Amino acid sequence: MIHAAGRHAYIRIHAMHIPSIPASSEVTDDEPPLSGSTSISSFFPLSPTLTGLTKRPQWHDWRWQMRHRIRTFSQLQSYFPSCNTEAGVCSVLPVFQMAITPYYASLMRSFDAADAIFRMAVPQPHELAHPSYLTTDPLCEEEHMPVPHLVHRYEDRALLITTSSCAMYCRYCTRKRVTRQREKIITQEQLARIVAYIRAHTEIKDVIISGGDPLTLSTPVLDMILAAIRAIPHVDIIRIGTRVPVTMPMRITEELTNCLRRYHPLWINTHFNHPWELTPESLSACTQLADAGIPLGNQSVLLRGVNDDPHVMEILCRGLVQMRVRPYYLFQCDLVPGVEDFRTPLARGIEIMSYMRGRLSGLAIPLFIVDAPEGGGKIPLLPDYVAYKSDTHTLLHGADGKMCRYPEPNSYESGLIPETPRAGKKNRNGRTKILQ
Ligand SMILES: *Cc1c(COP(=O)(O)O)cnc(C)c1O
Ligand code: SF4
Repeated sequence: MIHAAGRHAYIRIHAMHIPSIPASSEVTDDEPPLSGSTSISSFFPLSPTLTGLTKRPQWHDWRWQMRHRIRTFSQLQSYFPSCNTEAGVCSVLPVFQMAITPYYASLMRSFDAADAIFRMAVPQPHELAHPSYLTTDPLCEEEHMPVPHLVHRYEDRALLITTSSCAMYCRYCTRKRVTRQREKIITQEQLARIVAYIRAHTEIKDVIISGGDPLTLSTPVLDMILAAIRAIPHVDIIRIGTRVPVTMPMRITEELTNCLRRYHPLWINTHFNHPWELTPESLSACTQLADAGIPLGNQSVLLRGVNDDPHVMEILCRGLVQMRVRPYYLFQCDLVPGVEDFRTPLARGIEIMSYMRGRLSGLAIPLFIVDAPEGGGKIPLLPDYVAYKSDTHTLLHGADGKMCRYPEPNSYESGLIPETPRAGKKNRNGRTKILQ
């Protein structure tokens, strides 16, 4: 175990050893126990230039981080002089843009494709591979846009694309059709049309503020959007989907949490993929959000060479619950151009899920989801626990490979009287009444 002193010497840090992932690593139960009880990692940045910057006060200013994102090959090279992949990086940039905050760049531990942070952040020529089954909009979001910038695919939920801008452009992004565009934010007129649509559709209970990354918006703009949505009586909950706590955690300021806490019930889903992203800075961001009463969830993407390993996923999920972030979904890569090199077989995700079940607290286990092509929606995939089923009993695969015979009740009829469902009744402000 390495004790990392240095820029974060004031907190207790156990830097853990993450094994590099062999191309086809097997799940075994006799691996050595994970080193380090905490997953909060902190290293000196790889680049001396970045090390110098971390000591300046502006390092902690999110606007400085936004303005100083690495956008060009020469900027990349100025931080990482060993960077010699000009042709590779530059072949991708006209197709898919690059942006890496200095903070996120400081998480790289080696400047090559074996490094998980590098893989997620630095463009590589394989992004241009384009097998025929990859399409720009496999989830058919555009078809489910009744008004521009609003995806209404599930009856009770709607997703609002507020901006095309992100703190970092993830190389595997599913919404590259949005994030490859010039950086722009939603206009007042577009927001007004969206609000009118949601007002007219009382079945919408849950509005997801998404993008791009909505936390790249200024607080006043975000405040205006939240106020407009919160004023709609039938909207029960508002969710924000953001990777900013991971890629630019200094964005989580008191000004922001003071704004967000006025719009409860408000939930945030963030997007950690790898234990090296669990840093003192991201811990502080999540702590501030949780202390503002915001329940935090995490949506990871299963990525080859990043987290397609049960032990890495275990460290990630254990670390997340310590940061009060509940692992929510683990997504199979969507079939979008740019992701081919990140894709894993579905079986790998199921294998990881089966490794975690029973070994980790249920709170630390996400649901493995494939978002079906052609807009088929989210489908959870689980290891097959049912071995046999009849009217009288079910045979189940229990923990440690044990078979369990579960007898069914002799006769079954629900005790509920059909007329009683009270959920869905509205109180005066139109919100769903919570059952007593
Ligand atoms: C994923 C998604 C949601 C939210 O789904 P949950 O399963 O409730 O998290 C809503 N709208 C769209 C378009 C989505 O892709
Ligand atoms: S933060 Fe989200 S929307 Fe932005 S590039 Fe990454 S995955 Fe895509």
